[in-house]
Amino acid sequence: MATAPITARLLDQHGRVARDLRVSVTDRCNLRCRYCMPAEGLPWLAKPEMLTDDELVRLVTIFVALGVEQVRLTGGEPLLRRSLTDVVARIAALTPRPRIAMTTNGIGLDRLAAPLAAAGLDRVNISLDTVDPAEFADLTRRDRLADVEAGLEAAREAGLVPVKVNAVAMRGINDHSVADLLGWCLERGYELRFIEQMPLDAQHGWDASTMIGADEIRTRLSERFTITPLPQAERGSAPAERFLVDGGPATVGIIASVTAPFCGACDRTRLTADGQVRNCLFSQRETDLRGPMRDGASDDELAALITGEMWRKAKGHGIGSADFVQPIRPMSAIGG
Ligand code: SAM
Repeated sequence: MATAPITARLLDQHGRVARDLRVSVTDRCNLRCRYCMPAEGLPWLAKPEMLTDDELVRLVTIFVALGVEQVRLTGGEPLLRRSLTDVVARIAALTPRPRIAMTTNGIGLDRLAAPLAAAGLDRVNISLDTVDPAEFADLTRRDRLADVEAGLEAAREAGLVPVKVNAVAMRGINDHSVADLLGWCLERGYELRFIEQMPLDAQHGWDASTMIGADEIRTRLSERFTITPLPQAERGSAPAERFLVDGGPATVGIIASVTAPFCGACDRTRLTADGQVRNCLFSQRETDLRGPMRDGASDDELAALITGEMWRKAKGHGIGSADFVQPIRPMSAIGG
C-alpha cells in the first residue's frame, strides 16, 4: 500500500529545526580515552541489537525526508563497522543527497580514507588530544599516535578537507601542551577545535571544578599565539567559536558546551547504533525506532515517532543546574 509523503520537519516546541543527524554506527571503540570510557571498556551491544545496514539506511532516508541536510557518522569508533564504506555509498545515493561527514579517531583511516571518499564521504573530524606520544598513551590508554597521524595524512590526501581535529584538554594530562597541538596542526593545515569536557563519561568522573574551560584554553593558546575572535555572526548553528591565529587565515575553534552553551542554536538530532532517536546528547529519554521497524511500522509511522521525539527537545542541556542528571548512556553509546 502506498504511503503518504513525509512532509513534516524536525521542529521542536522552542522553534528550532534539526537539520544535522548524528548516526552512531557502532558503540565499540579501540581507544579508552579517560574522559569517555573506563580502562576495561564497556559491555558492547550484541549484534542482533544493532541496526543492520538496511535498517540504518532506511531510517536515514526517513530523516532526510524530514529535512536532514547533513549526516555525521560517529560512534564508538565508526571505522570499526566493516560495512561503513557501503553505508556511506548508500547514504550518498539518497535524494536529496545529504552532506556526509564522520567523526573518527583516525585509526585505520590510512587504508579507508580513499575508499570512503570515493563512496561519498565529504569531510572528517579526527579526534586527537595531544601529539606527545607519552601523553597520548596516558590519555587514550593505547599507543596508537602514529596510526592517528597516518589517518590524518590519508584524509587530506583523499580530499576530505578541511581536515578538522577535535581535542579535549584534561587537567594534569595534556592541558599544558594545547599550544603545541595548535602549532602542530597549523604546520600541517589541519583545523583544530577544542571541546570542553562534558559529563558524558561512563565512569561519571567529570568534575566541573577541574574541567578546563574555554577561557583557560584561550589563555594558554595566547601564551604562544595571537588569538582574535571572528565575528559571532559567522557562527550560525556551528558549535565552535572561531578565532584567527596570528592574524589568519588559519583559525582555531573552541566549543564551550559547558561554560557557554549554544543550545538555542542547536540543529542536531541523533540516532544510536541500536535504533533509538535522541533529541539531545543530554536527554534523559529516547524513542525506540528499531522495535516498531522490526514489527512492520511504515515509514510514516517511523517519521511520526521521530518528529514526536524532536518536538519534546528541552530548551537547554541543563549542565550546571541543581537538578542536572547525567544521561544513563555514555557518549560512546550515544554517538559523539
Ligand atoms: N571514536 C570517534 C572519535 O574519537 O572521534 C567518534 C566518537 S567520540 C565519542 C566523538 C568525540 O567525542 C571525540 O572527539 C571525543 O573526543 C569526544 N568526547 C568523548 N567524550 C567526551 C566528553 N566527556 N566530553 C567532551 N568530548 C568528549
